[in-house]
Amino acid sequence: MSSFMLELAQVHSAYGNVEALKGVDLNLSEGEIVALLGANGAGKTTTLASVTGLVSPRSGRIDFEGQSILGARPEYLVSQGLIMVPEGRRIFPGLSVLENLRMGAFLRNDKAGVEADLDYVFNLFPILATRAKQTGGTLSGGEQQMLAISRALMGRPRLLLLDEPSLGLAPLVIRNIFDTIRKINIDQKTTILLVEQNANLALNLVHRAYIMTTGRITLSGTAAELLNDESVRQAYLGG
Ligand code: ATP
Repeated sequence: MSSFMLELAQVHSAYGNVEALKGVDLNLSEGEIVALLGANGAGKTTTLASVTGLVSPRSGRIDFEGQSILGARPEYLVSQGLIMVPEGRRIFPGLSVLENLRMGAFLRNDKAGVEADLDYVFNLFPILATRAKQTGGTLSGGEQQMLAISRALMGRPRLLLLDEPSLGLAPLVIRNIFDTIRKINIDQKTTILLVEQNANLALNLVHRAYIMTTGRITLSGTAAELLNDESVRQAYLGG
């Protein structure tokens, strides 16, 4: 049995005739923060969707904690602690902040634990506490991202998948969110896979990263290795 928390081996996924993943190999060990980087359309979101069962791979292997999760239902994965924050945040706009957070805990019946986790996320993002009764749809983009991350935390993730948390947000808000992602990894020992287009931001947060180009992993290494790699600097870090 492998010692990886998540392991993808030769994963191929397609949308009709469009081959989006052409044999992806990727792994994460418990406690790591790892980024999956690459340009628009490289296949990053499809990789996450293949892990969470939203896309069915045509071939390959995906194991979570030593067990195949190919074909597993999203609800089963959530119950196992594999939780995604999708791109575009997708909170429930008509529900209040508090109701959105409680939705994240819908599989849990440890009431005291849920209340303690509400305190924890309100502590992480104090602005959400002041907006607890406001509907999700009236929050700013940054606040909605904070809510989406917090809602995922209410499910007690062991592995958190984040799809472009910086998308469309102002630099100061991004900094707050990235600092908090680091804190979650340190405090809760949550393993994190972060999909990002902004390589500079991501490489200053993560331990390791993979770079994807048109459906394949074309490079991987520690954050320091990639920050110093000439081809990475040219292609992703603005020279
Ligand atoms: P982005 O940052 O734009 O989300 P990405 O790296 O996440 O890019 P994917 O969204 O995984 O890339 O897309 C990979 C490829 O699959 C692209 O060529 C894209 O056009 C194609 N694709 C994605 N979703 C679909 C879909 N629902 N139907 C058809 N083709 C799709």
